[in-house]
Amino acid sequence: MHVLHGICVDLSHEGKGVFKSEGETYFVPGMFPGEEGDVEFAYARAGAKFGKIKKLDKVSPDRIDPRCKICSACGGCCFQQLSYKAQLDFKTKKVKEQFRKIAKMDVEPKPCIGMDNPYFYRNKIQMPFGKDQKGNLYCGFYKEGTHVIVPVETCFIEDERAKKILDAVKKLGKGFRIEPYNEDEGSGFLRHVLIRAAKHKEQVMVVLVTSREAFPSRSNFVKALLKECPFITTIVQNINSRHTNVILGEAERVLYGPGYIEDILCGISFKISAKSFYQVNPIMTEVLYGKAIEAAELTKEDVVFDAYSGIGTIGMVASSHCKNVIAVEIVKEAVADARKNAKFNGVDNISFYCDDASAFMVRMAQNKERVDVLFMDPPRKGSDQKCLDAICKLAPKRIVYVSCDPSTLARDVAYLNKKYKLQSVQPVDMFPQTSHVETVACLRLKER
Ligand code: SAH
Repeated sequence: MHVLHGICVDLSHEGKGVFKSEGETYFVPGMFPGEEGDVEFAYARAGAKFGKIKKLDKVSPDRIDPRCKICSACGGCCFQQLSYKAQLDFKTKKVKEQFRKIAKMDVEPKPCIGMDNPYFYRNKIQMPFGKDQKGNLYCGFYKEGTHVIVPVETCFIEDERAKKILDAVKKLGKGFRIEPYNEDEGSGFLRHVLIRAAKHKEQVMVVLVTSREAFPSRSNFVKALLKECPFITTIVQNINSRHTNVILGEAERVLYGPGYIEDILCGISFKISAKSFYQVNPIMTEVLYGKAIEAAELTKEDVVFDAYSGIGTIGMVASSHCKNVIAVEIVKEAVADARKNAKFNGVDNISFYCDDASAFMVRMAQNKERVDVLFMDPPRKGSDQKCLDAICKLAPKRIVYVSCDPSTLARDVAYLNKKYKLQSVQPVDMFPQTSHVETVACLRLKER
């Protein structure tokens, strides 16, 4: 065993301790700046070395007792052992650092806005299943960088209703002889269980992701699950027979209820189906959208564009503050939800298009269409140059960029920098206990 002595000098952007020993750097999960002690070398990947704490001689004043006793093994929450104040400080600094490193810009983000109770916030839970030697089913998270399931009994960041459902599936699964899917062999039936719980309505969706359509004792299983968890309002079977890391497959079959749940966000009601994106922290989503709308300084004359619009949440919230909204999203199920949502809420100044945001905006720019304010909320990989070039041509007077990855945000803002001045950067803690951070950046068109 290779044990090293040294000190932790910083946190990496992934939230791992940056540990220095004999001139070498190691990344150590669960170690915090100022801590000193022994670390065991664990593995090397892509030129970086990783270690595991053996013994701490000096402990950070920010270290706390984690609520979750398996947080070190699970790897989902790298910050369960770090005070919440220190988590928020890390996130503010992380955003600043990414702008410095990637955009070469000196930016002063506002302090990251946190939650009053940073636990049990996640409304979306997805877990793979396995079976132990006694034939009992278990579920959990993949250990970081592997496909080994770390069994989880109680997850302290998830909506509390999820545990009841997962416990029921484990119990019933054994009785109904449901075989968990085995990735290596491609055998077995139950791949994942996905749960979506509404915050403001008593509605819960369960998606059983299975490797094939044929579901022995389907209706009895559904009945038994509903008996154990009467609060479930819809159950969907999603069939994913492909050998892939992607959780959901194409085909879907509604086994119970309407096939979607409804939730309320910023006073607007939203229908959400299994494949549609919906922010995972409903409390902080309202804070996030509040900041985005505030930054947009909308007027009743403004034509607003909502790029990467999901089920239309940001555009719908903006719609009452502006002339009209054009929204584009690539997932057809999400666009269908969005159209229903607009109709249901009586919002008639918004139109939804199912398309690639870049292709759509290039066409808009060619047609010299008018956009006054652009909201963009791309996935983690950010936007692309085609899209950013089209934005520069469309020249909206303000851009509100909502991002779940500050590194791609910084890259895209640097690209827009020739035409846009960065006005404000507001991190929001959508993902407490983890190293992830959401950011609202506001850019203003430079005067010629
Ligand atoms: N603004 C929404 C969704 C943000 S998530 C909300 O706050 O809920 C990002 C969204 O971008 C997802 O719905 C995803 O399906 C969509 N998306 C991903 N790539 C896209 C592309 N190339 N063009 C348009 N939409 C895309």
